[in-house]
Amino acid sequence: MPTSLGQQLLATLAPFFPDAKTVGSWIGGEYVAGAGDAIRLVDPATGQEFLSYADAGVDVVAKVTQAAVAGQTAWAALSAAQRGRVMFEIGRVLRAHIEPLAQLESLSVGKPIRDCRGEVTKVAEMFEYYAGWADKLHGEVIPVPSGHLNYTRREPFGVLLLITPWNAPVFTCGWNVAPAIAAGNAVLLKPSELTPLSSLAVAALAEKAGLPKGVINVITGYGHTTGQAAIASPVVKKVVFVGSPATGGKIAAASAQRGIPCVLELGGKSANIVFEDADLARACVGAQSAIFAAAGQSCVAGSRLLVQRGVYDRFVAMLAEGARRLRTGAPLSPDTEVGPIQNAKQYEHVLGMIRSGLREGAEVVEGSDGKPADQGYFVRPTVLKNVRNDMEVARTEIFGPVVVAIPFDTEEEAIAIANDSEFGLAGAVWTNNVARAHRVAAQVKAGTFWINTYKVINVASPFGGFDASGYGRSSGTDALHEYTQVKSVWVETSANPAVAFGYAPGIGA
Ligand code: NAD
Repeated sequence: MPTSLGQQLLATLAPFFPDAKTVGSWIGGEYVAGAGDAIRLVDPATGQEFLSYADAGVDVVAKVTQAAVAGQTAWAALSAAQRGRVMFEIGRVLRAHIEPLAQLESLSVGKPIRDCRGEVTKVAEMFEYYAGWADKLHGEVIPVPSGHLNYTRREPFGVLLLITPWNAPVFTCGWNVAPAIAAGNAVLLKPSELTPLSSLAVAALAEKAGLPKGVINVITGYGHTTGQAAIASPVVKKVVFVGSPATGGKIAAASAQRGIPCVLELGGKSANIVFEDADLARACVGAQSAIFAAAGQSCVAGSRLLVQRGVYDRFVAMLAEGARRLRTGAPLSPDTEVGPIQNAKQYEHVLGMIRSGLREGAEVVEGSDGKPADQGYFVRPTVLKNVRNDMEVARTEIFGPVVVAIPFDTEEEAIAIANDSEFGLAGAVWTNNVARAHRVAAQVKAGTFWINTYKVINVASPFGGFDASGYGRSSGTDALHEYTQVKSVWVETSANPAVAFGYAPGIGA
């Protein structure tokens, strides 16, 4: 039986799926309840279970793949301009539903409602941005050295599998679905089993806006059952995975087994570098937002704070003071700036990492000492000082509101520490020396780098990782290239074509 929060969530879902009595999958425009093992959802603000639903399981995959093939065929039959108009309409419909979508996200993820409103607005922007690209995605004419006309076409893969994590479900749904469908694909979207609701609602709203049924299908279930079965489906031609490095390895192996490509958007341990000559007040606000927004459950979180020794103590004290003032609380409260950790496993991990730091000699300047809260999965914004880059707390992704402050002396040392990590997702530098800013930006290995700012990303700009943070790019025009495959077409144009067996001399020379 759902608790009152469970009922509240189902009521918030009801306008999207009037007949829904539980969480199901959205397949070819139909809401389908699962038949597998129970998935229990827990309110991160209280630690109480509030709803359970059945894993979609292996059997759902045959049904969803048929629906996706039919949807992709219908979608591809529209002109590119028509597809663009539908996507603009999806953006408009999403904007008209910002509040219910944000509530759904806030209640199930535990993220502050003000952040959720911003994320849903960005999802609308994503559909609008790619709507404009739908009819501008074209090939090239290649000046080959023979009498042939040679041109390229950018063709959709067909059906893509998108697998997303629990930390930003609605954002990662839009981030990956919008470019995928703009390029003419249909998608099977498998959100985290812990946070499927906003993805379901986006799919339903997209159909309300005119998207043919079966273009966006959402399968709700565990990764090792539903997710693995979907990768094995022959209609899936490419996998796009957003999640942890450990699962990313399994996804890459399963994709390789079938000989299909995959994109991996994985975790990070990003270095946020503060030089003595920076505007320290601005750098401090930036450092707070880099690590404490979304309670640190952000792949690009500025989790390693590298501060030049001359201002180390002062800057760490400023950051600790800022952390103390942040308002931690219930996700739906309009004042809340930092919500709880989303789930028990992650909560244990965050607390365990703090304890590991303390064992290795780090000191808590502000925040949690690694002991559990009285209620819910709350971790106070935490600043650890006297951290060395070889400590576990500086090497492992914490994915919580915990920043480790590491001192450095020179620019070379800052770059060396920043690059001494298996990850390479993002990074930042704070300095008023323009030349130094660009030198550092060029030398830190990261897919995204900020100068005197942090965490700005936009759908128009490419995003992805170096090293263990993954490969492939999402967003911007790079995503359109990622979601299409190039075909080279040769046309004979000579009046006296010389067709030869093998490579005839003179042809193609
Ligand atoms: P996770 O790897 O546990 O799960 C991610 C998704 O994979 C879920 O939908 C899960 O059900 C599915 N999954 C799990 N096992 C699977 C399997 N064997 N086969 C198929 N699917 C499977 O990650 P998480 O804990 O949900 O998310 C946190 C991680 O995501 C962090 O490491 C974070 O840095 C990363 N992340 C990266 C980005 C990025 O863009 N680089 C964005 C957000 C989050």
